[in-house]
Amino acid sequence: MTEHTDVVVVGGGQAGLAAGYHLSRQGLDFVIVDADAAPGGSWQHMWDSLHLFSPADHSSLPGRLMPAQPGETYPGAAHVVDYLADYEKRYNLPVQHGTRVNAVHRDADRLRVEADAGIWRAKAVISATGTWSRPFLPAVPGRPDFAGRQLHTVNYRSPADFAGQRVVVVGGGNSGAQIAADLALDGDVEVKWVTRRPPRFLPDDIDGRALFDVATARRRALDAGRSDTGGVASLGDIVAVPPVRAARNAGLLTVKPMFAHLTATGARWADGSRSDADAIVWCTGFRPALAHLAPLNLRGPRGHIPTDGTRALGEPRLHLLGYGDWTGPASATLIGVGRTARDAVQQIRELLR
Ligand code: FAD
Repeated sequence: MTEHTDVVVVGGGQAGLAAGYHLSRQGLDFVIVDADAAPGGSWQHMWDSLHLFSPADHSSLPGRLMPAQPGETYPGAAHVVDYLADYEKRYNLPVQHGTRVNAVHRDADRLRVEADAGIWRAKAVISATGTWSRPFLPAVPGRPDFAGRQLHTVNYRSPADFAGQRVVVVGGGNSGAQIAADLALDGDVEVKWVTRRPPRFLPDDIDGRALFDVATARRRALDAGRSDTGGVASLGDIVAVPPVRAARNAGLLTVKPMFAHLTATGARWADGSRSDADAIVWCTGFRPALAHLAPLNLRGPRGHIPTDGTRALGEPRLHLLGYGDWTGPASATLIGVGRTARDAVQQIRELLR
C-alpha cells in the first residue's frame, strides 16, 4: 500500500491527538499512526496507583476538558486512558492503531513514511512518539552480576509483585519517589530509596497547576528577552503528591546515596556498607524514541534533534511534539502540549500554502 496525504503524525498518545485536533480544524488531510493496539499512549502502561500531578481541569487537551474522576482530586492513569480514548472518538481522529513506523526518508518532494502496514508519502510529518518505549538504564558496575530481579519504571505494576521482599528503588525524580512511596506504604515490602543527590521535594502546596504557571512565566520572560527565571527545575524535582507526602511524613522513605556497585546479592557503597536485595527498580528516566527518524540524519547532542520550537532545523517538513521542554515549554504535559501542537500545525499550514 502507498498512500498520499498532507501530514502523517507518528504516535497517537496525548501529543499526537493534540496535533490531530488542530490538523482537523485546519482542514488538512492527515493520518495518525500509532504502534499501540489501543488508545491511551503511555498512560495505558503505567503502574496501577499512578495519579496525575494536577487536577482534571488542569490536565486537558485542546477543545475538551478532562472530566473530574469521582472521589479523586488527582485522576489516576486509567482515567487518563479513558479520556484519551473518548477524545480520539469525539473528534473522529483518524488513528491507525497497532501500526509501527519503522523509518522516515526524504524523497524529492515528500517525506516517505514506512510503516508495518505500508507507506505514506506526506508533505509534512509530526513525530510524537514520546519516551516510554526507550527506558534508560545507567551503566553501574556489577549490574550484570546481580542475581535478583531488575526492572525499570516501565515494568513496575504494584507492591503485590514484591510481597515480603527487599527492594532498592534507584532514582531521585518523580517516578522514583512515587514507586518508593507505593512500595513503602504497602507495609509488606522493605524499601531502600537510592538517589544520586538528596531528593528535592517541591513545596507541598505546589502541584502541576503551579508548575505550568512557572513554565509559562519562564517562556514569557525568555520571549520578551528578559533573564531566565529558572523555570520548574529551580523549584525542586519531586511533586509531593498525596502518597509521596504520606510516606515521607510517616518516615517511611529511607533515602541513601547512590551505591558504588552491585554484587550478586545486593548493593555496596563506597564506605563498605552493603544492603542485600531481592529486586532493584531502576527509575532512571527515558530517552526520546527517535529511531524511526534515523534515515534523516538529524541527530544532535544528547540524542535530541535540534529544533526551533517544534520544527527540526535540518528538515523543515518535520516537527517534533511532546518529548520534553526542548520541543516547547511543558510540551510533554497534557495541559502544555495543546499550545505547541497549535503552533506546529500553524507552521505546517503555512509551509503547505
Ligand atoms: P506517549 O504517551 O508515550 O505516546 C507515544 C505514542 O507513540 C504511543 O502510543 C506509542 O505507541 C507511539 N509510538 C512510539 N513509537 C512509535 C513508532 N515508531 N511508530 C508508531 N507509533 C509509535 N504528564 C502530565 O501532563 N501530567 C502528569 O501529572 C504527569 N505525571 C507523570 C508521572 C510520571 C511518573 C511519568 C513517568 C510521566 C508523567 N507525565 C505527566 C508525563 C506524561 O506521561 C508523558 O509526558 C506523556 O505521556 C507523553 O505523551 P506523548 O504523547 O508525547 O507520548
